[in-house]
Amino acid sequence: MKFPSQEKLEKYAELALKTGVNLQNDQRLMINSTVEGAPFTRIVAKKAYEMGAKDVYVVWADDELARLRYEHADVEVLKEVPEWQRKMFDYFGEEGAAVLSIRSTDPDLLKGIDAGKVAAANKARAEAMSNFRSYTMNDRIQWSIISIPIPAWAQKIFPNESEEDSIDKLWEEIFSIVRVDQDDPVAAWEEHNATLDIVRKYLNDKQYQKLVYKAPGTDLEVELPKGHIWKGGSSQTEKKVTFNPNMPTEEVFTAPHKYGVNGHVSSTKPLNYGGNVIDNFTLTFKDGKVVDFKAEQGEETLQHLLDTDEGSKHLGEMALVPHESPISQSGLIFYNTLYDENASCHLALGKAYPNNVEGGSHMNEEELDQNGVNDSLSHVDFMMGSGELDIDGYLEDGTKEPVMRNGSWAIDF
Ligand code: ZN
Ligand code: ZN
Repeated sequence: MKFPSQEKLEKYAELALKTGVNLQNDQRLMINSTVEGAPFTRIVAKKAYEMGAKDVYVVWADDELARLRYEHADVEVLKEVPEWQRKMFDYFGEEGAAVLSIRSTDPDLLKGIDAGKVAAANKARAEAMSNFRSYTMNDRIQWSIISIPIPAWAQKIFPNESEEDSIDKLWEEIFSIVRVDQDDPVAAWEEHNATLDIVRKYLNDKQYQKLVYKAPGTDLEVELPKGHIWKGGSSQTEKKVTFNPNMPTEEVFTAPHKYGVNGHVSSTKPLNYGGNVIDNFTLTFKDGKVVDFKAEQGEETLQHLLDTDEGSKHLGEMALVPHESPISQSGLIFYNTLYDENASCHLALGKAYPNNVEGGSHMNEEELDQNGVNDSLSHVDFMMGSGELDIDGYLEDGTKEPVMRNGSWAIDF
């Protein structure tokens, strides 16, 4: 491998620990990583100890073993999530560990595997993880997701390059997008977060009653809950530790009203959902619920996603990303939601972040529902932004204001 240098890798590891999870002295660190990323993961672990981590624990994933299991194990076995696994994750939540996910998978990993089998396993895993997910989705612990190149992923993005060249190219893209190629990436992120802060403050002050999206294949009205909060960039735990859940991140996002979505929306980028690609799909909503859908590719996978539970047919996130975001400008399709969602306005099917409404993290299920905040085992972002998307905001008194035109902000922040 010609690229990257040890120095750049260390810079990336440091950025993930400082700006990503903001690891504190004497804090435990749990890393979710992939066996193909072992060398980089070791660099992160070493840096973490140098920064004063109490302990570093790595949960390894292996794409090839995962596929083998889907090929050979019975669906009933795939639905089993051992109690000790659930307990392990809960333990790190209870301990107040920082959680860093180094997430890179082959977008076509589960191509050809029975979609019903995959859906059943996904659902069982989501159920087992629901308690642990409340730690991350309520920002009770510091968590962050980053990605690193692996061969199958790099080859999907750069199919005409050799494996080695595709990996080099992907490292280069990642370092540019995540600002590792800048002199002081940590400072660059502070500046970036300050910019996102201005946007979210503007939108929070406006308290739009609804947003209306119009683009080819899209005509969608989305109501916003009263007291909704736009978030973006860094987050804070209850103990006031600042961290960045996603690296990269270019979005500001809030919760749509669970029962206030009407019209239809078409995807603009392929969606990699659990090892299968869903592409060119349209969803039709009535009173917040998907009542019709079609997809050119992966329709069965989409069907299973929507059938996960009641909440997976409703929206849980609306995110605004200007079309000129650096990831969008790269012109690449990453087949990795962490990257693709930050190139495009998007929506998510499934669970909403409770703290996207005032007091949401202290509401029970019923109160969240009454406030229009969706709950589900799933949370899946899909991209629907483009250079042809117009968005209007409606104030409480009915006044209409342009929010985005041709995919760019129509607002002078
Ligand atoms: Zn998002
Ligand atoms: Zn999301």
